[in-house]
Amino acid sequence: KEELNIIQGALELRTKVVEEVLTPLGDCFMLRSDAVLDFATVSEILRSGYTRIPVYEGDQRHNIVDILFVKDLAFVDPDDCTPLLTVTRFYNRPLHCVFNDTRLDAVLEEFKKGMGGKSHLAIVQRVNNEGEGDPFYEVMGIVTLEDIIEEIIKSEILDE
Ligand code: ADP
Repeated sequence: KEELNIIQGALELRTKVVEEVLTPLGDCFMLRSDAVLDFATVSEILRSGYTRIPVYEGDQRHNIVDILFVKDLAFVDPDDCTPLLTVTRFYNRPLHCVFNDTRLDAVLEEFKKGMGGKSHLAIVQRVNNEGEGDPFYEVMGIVTLEDIIEEIIKSEILDE
């Protein structure tokens, strides 16, 4: 029965962690912080179909410094070739982070409380203590409310 599956999915939130449902960094559509919002870039953003786009600094995709909301582009004219930084500095969207081993029920609770400023997207970090040097935080990917809901209702949600 469908209902049984959903209840089962909801109960399993307590046994699963963020790492199991995240979208890996390599699969994330992101922008470099020094990008220019010209016609090509804006087209690419719109074509990606995502509503929130992490922004990273330098060549380091791990180094996420901002989130651009596609709706932030409403007043941007591609002909002006506005620097992305001008827009992200203006809106200054909060970045929210969770650790890779956070349980899904806890993340759902955080999202409900308004983490991610109602946007329900978090950056997933882990502590990397492999290798010689000091341990450091490493970004693994992103997780959104949809990734958790998907776990509850099991079958993939078909995004239009
Ligand atoms: P959107 O509203 O942008 O479609 P959702 O929150 O509905 O995003 O998430 C749909 C799926 O896409 C989730 O698996 C989420 O992790 C992933 N996702 C969200 N934003 C991005 C992005 N910028 N790049 C890659 N995947 C993303």
